[in-house]
Amino acid sequence: MKTYDPPMRLSRRVQNLKPSATLAVTARVRELKAEGRDVIGFGAGEPDFGTPDNIRQAAIDALLAGQTHYMPVPGEPGARTAIADKLRRENGIECTADDIVITVGGKHALYMVLQCLLDGDEEVVVPTPAWVSYRPMIELAGGTVVEVPGPVDSDFKITPAQLEAVISDRTAAVIFNSPSNPCGTMYSPDELRALAAVVEPHERITVISDEIYEKIIYGGIEHFSLGSLAGLADRVITVNGMSKAYAMTGWRIGYASAPGGFAKSIAKLQGQMTSNITSFCYAAIVEALTNSAAEVERMRQAFADRASLIHGLITAMPGVRCPRPTGAFYIFPDISSCFGKRSPGGRTIDSSVTFAEALLEEANVAVVPGEDFGECGHHHVRLSFACSNELIEEGCRRIDAWLRQVS
Ligand code: PMP
Ligand code: GLU
Repeated sequence: MKTYDPPMRLSRRVQNLKPSATLAVTARVRELKAEGRDVIGFGAGEPDFGTPDNIRQAAIDALLAGQTHYMPVPGEPGARTAIADKLRRENGIECTADDIVITVGGKHALYMVLQCLLDGDEEVVVPTPAWVSYRPMIELAGGTVVEVPGPVDSDFKITPAQLEAVISDRTAAVIFNSPSNPCGTMYSPDELRALAAVVEPHERITVISDEIYEKIIYGGIEHFSLGSLAGLADRVITVNGMSKAYAMTGWRIGYASAPGGFAKSIAKLQGQMTSNITSFCYAAIVEALTNSAAEVERMRQAFADRASLIHGLITAMPGVRCPRPTGAFYIFPDISSCFGKRSPGGRTIDSSVTFAEALLEEANVAVVPGEDFGECGHHHVRLSFACSNELIEEGCRRIDAWLRQVS
């Protein structure tokens, strides 16, 4: 794909890079709204809540107190200690502040972890559907993505046998993401233990566990951290951040917990990229991790209500099927029964991309096409239900009315 026409030189690496589909839909909705269009956006993967006041105040206080200078690259020691305490207490991960690097979002943590892990000819196993940014990040680090498709009928979850079947001499890492973006489903602790048991004998394989949605769960399934498993802990890198649980997407704060000195390598890389994150934000991390449980619970409850509302509305639509969400704030319906048909506005629907385009143009509802979430995402679109019940109801009413005219 050519995205840039010289005169100025642009690396092939970046020419070949696909823009983030999730951010593209979010930006498009913003543009259309600014033009005055009455669009309902199910694109943005971010909580609609504001950051709790006590967390904002902590940053304001730190700023006014003069925390405006460079800080240690992996993060202010107090904030790293608060993260290590949280991981030991809540996740059963044996770590100290030395194992933690605080990064510019979970996204940057993942990017750096992959840069630190891969030399260029390795494979990274990704159960799919999976977040759109894993593939580009793996490929930018020179790696090859090996997708393992999780079927709709088993909540998009893969089996240990499927995992075993794709492990090769070149496998360097496996990325797990439970609760999952875009599936909105999660693995049970036993299911994760069974997958871990497949990886365990392969000593050169690192597990990357992206636990960014750990607090947004509502299906009766417990969150489980792979880094708590004694037999695997020395090869698990846990990635998390403040964005989702504390409604802090715009702050850009994430972290990685990595054993055996690996955190020092991430920090070495970060020292040549971004240095420390914004200095007065460290106090907000400590406040969020130690003093925000009630707010987190209030938001979790809201996501639980919305999940059940949207699942009911979507599964009542003609020809649409999808599992019940149990975590995160996404639902990933199969809309392929529309393929080969025409939209009410006369467009041919032959993919999730043309489905999403027609829906936006004709019904003023934005969803993310499933293509970039993996090969098995082609039959799906993603809806983020991080918005009010009223918007969910109105958006689903529009989709339903539009779908009934697809023929
Ligand atoms: N992992 C997953 C699965 C995500 O959906 C996101 C959301 N962007 C991230 C990581 C990173 O989020 P952030 O950079 O805001 O911490
Ligand atoms: N993770 C969110 C999403 O999937 C935020 C956008 C992004 O970084 O991809 O929509």
